[in-house]
Amino acid sequence: MTGFQGGCLCGDIRYEVSSDPVLQVNCHCDDCRKATGAQFATNLFVNEDDLTITQGEPKSFSHTSDSGNTLTKMFCPNCGSQMFGHGSGRPGVKGVKAGTVENKEVVQPGVNIYTSSALPCTVFAEGTAKHEKMPSG
Ligand SMILES: [Zn+2]
Ligand SMILES: [Zn+2]
Repeated sequence: MTGFQGGCLCGDIRYEVSSDPVLQVNCHCDDCRKATGAQFATNLFVNEDDLTITQGEPKSFSHTSDSGNTLTKMFCPNCGSQMFGHGSGRPGVKGVKAGTVENKEVVQPGVNIYTSSALPCTVFAEGTAKHEKMPSG
C-alpha cells in the first residue's frame, strides 16, 4: 500500500496522502510537547503536493523556532487536534501528526530529535536513532 489517510478527533477535518512518508521523527522539543500535549510529537514528513485536505479547514498558528525559522502548526478549530506542521526551513514538506493517522502500520518513526529536551521518563524504542538537537543536513 502506498499512502495513508486520517482525520481529527471530531471528524470535521479529513485528509489523504498519496505517497509514503519521506521521514518519520519523534520530536522531543518543548514546542512539540506543548502543542501536542504529549510526551513527544511523532511527525510523518510528506511531500506537500501529496497531501490533500479532503474535508474541513484547519486553523493555523505560527511561531519562531530557536533556529529562527517560522513554524506553523495546523489544527482543527472545533476539537483542537494538532494535524499538520510546516517550517520555513523545509519548503515543500509538511509534517503530519502520527496521532491523526488511521493506517496505523504506516507509523514507524526511526529517529528521535531534540532528545536533550526529552522528559526524564521517556522510553526510547529499541533501534531508533537519537540526536540531542536537530541533525544537520
Ligand atoms: Zn476536529
Ligand atoms: Zn519539536
